Amino acid sequence: MKKFIICLILGVMLTSTAYALNKSYMGWAVGQAKTREKIVALTFDDGPSKTYTPQVLAVLKKYNVKATFFMCGAQAQYYPDLVKQASADGHEIANHSFSHPNLFKNKSKRGAALVAEIVQMNHLVEKLTMIKPAYFRAPYNYMGLETIKAVNDAGLIYVSWTFSVKDWERPAPAVMVEAFNKRLIPGSIVLLHDGGGNRANTVAALSGMIESAKKKGYRFVTLGELLK
Ligand SMILES: [Zn+2]
Repeated sequence: MKKFIICLILGVMLTSTAYALNKSYMGWAVGQAKTREKIVALTFDDGPSKTYTPQVLAVLKKYNVKATFFMCGAQAQYYPDLVKQASADGHEIANHSFSHPNLFKNKSKRGAALVAEIVQMNHLVEKLTMIKPAYFRAPYNYMGLETIKAVNDAGLIYVSWTFSVKDWERPAPAVMVEAFNKRLIPGSIVLLHDGGGNRANTVAALSGMIESAKKKGYRFVTLGELLK
């Protein structure tokens, strides 16, 4: 029965979406929008950060760019004003769990415990912004079947990414802009980070990425708009 339900979920996901699905490990997730329209969704993981989230928000505001923030509850509870500001600025808040557990290592966090974390985080965001997150990305992008099922049980869609510029390795901003330029295609979901470490280089690269994409005729949208 359990297997049947999982197949059903996968079947529905595969046949009814206009998204490209990433297969990783044993699960499926949305990795890109299938479109020819030059639209791109920037996603920022691991915030909010007291230092870097305000800087990212300032750059996005300067260029009138809307993005999506995969926030963690453990961070959001300390910086509720940043959650509210991001939402008020027109960005989408998505769910990156509450405590950022490593699901590769910690099996006990994959099933019901993960559902509980997702629900806890969604409640917090809803309390702060009046909007319930619709998208989830697991810490370290763990995509086991049990996790995908947990995300579905919690009523969310698992969203991975089309490409990253490996910003967590802190390459020089120009290197990140070049990588971004090379890989950008219509419907891209781009992984970036505004929390979880030193993100100064990500902030420094952001203007360059936005300017180069705009020059190519791209428009920046939230995940909700990209995947609708
Ligand atoms: Zn993360």
